[in-house]
Amino acid sequence: MHFKICTIGELLVEFLAKEQNQRFNQTGEFIGPFVSGAPAIFADQVAKLGFSVVFFSCVGKDAFGKMCINRLKNDGVIIDGITMHHKANTGSAFVTYKDSNERDFIFNIPNSACGLLSFNHVNESLLKDCNHLHVMGSSLYSFRVIDAMRKALDIIKNKGGTISFDPNLRKEMFDIPEMEQSFDYIMEYTDIFLPSKNEVNYFSNNNDESEQQIMMRLLKKGIKHIVVKGGCKGANYYGLDEQGYLQMLHVDGYTVNSVDPTGAGDCFGATFVSLMLAGYSVEKALQYANASGAFAVSKKGPMEGTSSLPELKQFLSRTFIKK
Ligand code: ATP
Ligand code: MG
Repeated sequence: MHFKICTIGELLVEFLAKEQNQRFNQTGEFIGPFVSGAPAIFADQVAKLGFSVVFFSCVGKDAFGKMCINRLKNDGVIIDGITMHHKANTGSAFVTYKDSNERDFIFNIPNSACGLLSFNHVNESLLKDCNHLHVMGSSLYSFRVIDAMRKALDIIKNKGGTISFDPNLRKEMFDIPEMEQSFDYIMEYTDIFLPSKNEVNYFSNNNDESEQQIMMRLLKKGIKHIVVKGGCKGANYYGLDEQGYLQMLHVDGYTVNSVDPTGAGDCFGATFVSLMLAGYSVEKALQYANASGAFAVSKKGPMEGTSSLPELKQFLSRTFIKK
């Protein structure tokens, strides 16, 4: 089936603290710049799989911005929707990992070129052949971007396209009130919902609801496919079968040497959404997405672990031989 995906949001460079538990208030070494931004990683992963993807974003007229655009272009992302702005510099993020799976970020997004992304940047002619929009919750960081996202959403929905949504909540972003308000609107139109395990409670009506109950309620409201991402534990799929009964699937995470968890969810989501649109079965899309997430964590740098279809196929065949 022919499809073209579009996504919108932050494109930035990331610097990784060299040491575990390295503190932001003490001088230390950082590795980077690495190209990053959740929707950018998503777009890069879609393109690496060989599918069409348009990405709307803003960078500054600086070396970081050039690096970001070149990287996406080389990987096959359609970059005509990326504006180089002279009024602000390219966005950035610093990340440091703690002992557990926890990490801290310092983001410079709303006050960077990313913050200038708005309604007029979403060029309708670039959306002409798009029939799917992916929304990253982390991209709803300003009323301007929310306006841009709504524009794309309306255009895609009006021509019968589909929407996927990954809340991608970051504790550092909780004080952005516009973001929370826009979630209800996006959820109304979502076809494929991709939360992380620790984000599920955010969508519950009360504290007593179990994961299954929350999923059932969301499916009855019209979401067609839900995948709850569980890090190294894999993922849970929820959907309704033809009789309206809850259909559940679980995949265990593959055992890999995890060196950098950032970007796993974005790669997982991109692979799941692309392969579902390409007509793969839920089981197969889930298996490939799981491999894509495992691939992502095994490389240092948020976008360095994006993978091609032959790479994923090879990974899966090797894993099955070992089992
Ligand atoms: P992020 O927002 O940081 O990208 P996320 O919370 O959205 O992450 P995760 O659950 O961390 O997403 O990862 C997505 C998927 O990637 C998991 O469901 C799993 O399939 C795979 N994955 C993640 N971490 C590991 C790991 N350590 N080992 C194997 N697979 C992993
Ligand atoms: Mg995520």
